[in-house]
Amino acid sequence: MVEKLLEVKNLYTHFFTEQGVIPSVNGVSFSVNKGEIVGIVGESGCGKSVTSLSILQLIDKPGKIVNGEVLFNGEDLIKLNEKQIKKIRGNRISMIFQEPLTSLNPVFTVGNQISEAIRIHQKVNKQQAKDKAIEMLRKVGIPNPEKQYYSFPHLLSGGMRQRVMIAMALSCNPELLIADEPTTALDVTIQAQILSLMKNLIEELQTSIIIITHDLGVVAEMVDRVVVMYGGEIVEQASVYDLFENPRHPYTQGLLKSTPKVHELEYELESIDGNVPSPDNMPTGCKFHPRCPFAMDKCKEEDPSLLSVGNDSAIKCWLYQDRKVVQV
Ligand code: SF4
Repeated sequence: MVEKLLEVKNLYTHFFTEQGVIPSVNGVSFSVNKGEIVGIVGESGCGKSVTSLSILQLIDKPGKIVNGEVLFNGEDLIKLNEKQIKKIRGNRISMIFQEPLTSLNPVFTVGNQISEAIRIHQKVNKQQAKDKAIEMLRKVGIPNPEKQYYSFPHLLSGGMRQRVMIAMALSCNPELLIADEPTTALDVTIQAQILSLMKNLIEELQTSIIIITHDLGVVAEMVDRVVVMYGGEIVEQASVYDLFENPRHPYTQGLLKSTPKVHELEYELESIDGNVPSPDNMPTGCKFHPRCPFAMDKCKEEDPSLLSVGNDSAIKCWLYQDRKVVQV
């Protein structure tokens, strides 16, 4: 039976600036089942990173979650105080970011940082934490982990640092890992190694994962289900197979047409016309209408709802609203 690990319900995160309220995330709802890998995709500025930071209550002022629930094993994380959420962060839910150098402390060795993370969340002594840290460094493929335990972050390559971050993130056996553009800063060959490493470890440790990415190649490689975001909203949800076989939303279709196809020698790469709208200046109606090749008059005035189209898929587009659908 499918068990839900995380349910994000009707999440709104806004930024209260001197220039006015900037609505970054607007009514986002999705779930992650136990053992499932969910990809959140979209161009920069579509709200995917703010969504993931909201899950862990990592939104700094002037940002604020103004509505919604984030149910983790049924418990609403938004209702927890700082002390309670700290017990969950880095322990039951871990996060890795695009640039590991900004997440690692330059004045401590990588081993020291992993050991400390283990000791904060687990009742182990110094030696046990060190042994576990070395075991994790070995698991993520760091050569000679006993020696590298004493390396400072700046002495390691970008790929090695990301391996260290993965070791740290998985050291407490989290139930959920949130990976925000985990391979974007890496060379293509290292990207493939890191993705394969993550996939193997996640299978071994039975961790659920949310991968935030603009790269549909990463999605095809890694995820079970895809959430497509645009303008701070979800515009399509589908299994990875459905999304690639039958992309429904015009934005998803545009994303796929602009992604290189590695197995085809000749193909035409298209780009989506126009730019992602700024959250403080969103178009009326469907937010994608200024860039949409199928836009109708109605699209400019009225905003469609995200509706289920069956088969665990949902879509937010007037082209599909007259079908027999159910509101998500
Ligand atoms: Fe395009 Fe209209 Fe669908 Fe928006 S609602 S994606 S503008 S067809």
